[in-house]
Amino acid sequence: MKLNNGVEIPQLGFGVWQVPDGETAATVTAALEAGYRSIDTAAAYGNETGVGDALAASGLPREELFVTTKVWNADQGYDATLRAFDTSLGKLGLDHLDLYLIHWPAPERDRYLDTWRALERLAAEGRIRAAGVSNFRAADLTRLFDHSELVPAVNQIELHPGLQQTELRALHARHGIATEAWSPLAQGAVLDDPAVTAIARRTGKSPAQVVLRWHLQLGTIVIPKSATPARIRQNLDVFDFELTEQDLAAIAATDRDLRTGPHPDQFN
Ligand code: NDP
Repeated sequence: MKLNNGVEIPQLGFGVWQVPDGETAATVTAALEAGYRSIDTAAAYGNETGVGDALAASGLPREELFVTTKVWNADQGYDATLRAFDTSLGKLGLDHLDLYLIHWPAPERDRYLDTWRALERLAAEGRIRAAGVSNFRAADLTRLFDHSELVPAVNQIELHPGLQQTELRALHARHGIATEAWSPLAQGAVLDDPAVTAIARRTGKSPAQVVLRWHLQLGTIVIPKSATPARIRQNLDVFDFELTEQDLAAIAATDRDLRTGPHPDQFN
């Protein structure tokens, strides 16, 4: 997919939250071997070193890779973010990043406008190819629009059939912000939904594949995580079938405010 600054991101990538650092290199290697080229990590995941080890060992040309990491809440603010960025880049063993995100708005800290200025600088210096945010609410985005020049390329939010974020996605679309879905499988919590399992039976695909296909047809960027090699491969095998209008309507009807992670109002 093309972001609002022309940079291209694979629509389907690989997330590594909750993969221990010591296991991350092997897991990311399995993902790269399966064909993923986009990896989503964060300073807070504690596994940027493992990601970097796998990227280096892969021998893949840098321009074929798309690497995302995120600045943690405690490092928000202009100077602290610039320092945190250098630390992340060092752990990843890279000289530039493809996408850098503010991990959470963290309303009690109230520093994301300064943090965003640091990301604007990193983008202007070419140290990040794209700048974005994560878990930003509509009001956070509006405030950012009012106080800065650069429109985020991406807002990475919890999004899956149980939490479809229709209004926020519409706001993104109006402003040219790509929606990226975290916990796209709701960490497994939507894989038993009857609407999903019925489509899986009919198409001969797994429930996870049906949900990932739903994301792709919605137009969101999606970054499923798996530490299981067979699932890592399976989650990439979603380009040989299509959901019908009826399937999409059946999944639309399962929206139910199901959050598997924290609410951005409360997370600081
Ligand atoms: P996901 O929705 O991707 O679900 C991961 C879980 O589903 C794991 O338990 C995995 O098991 C299981 N799973 C994966 N594939 C299959 C399959 N084909 N069939 C059945 N089960 C499957 O959850 P995450 O929370 O990990 O979200 C994905 C990524 O999003 C994260 O890794 C991270 O990069 C990002 N994220 C960002 C956040 C943010 O605040 N910006 C917050 C949370 C996540 P197993 O590993 O055992 O195979």
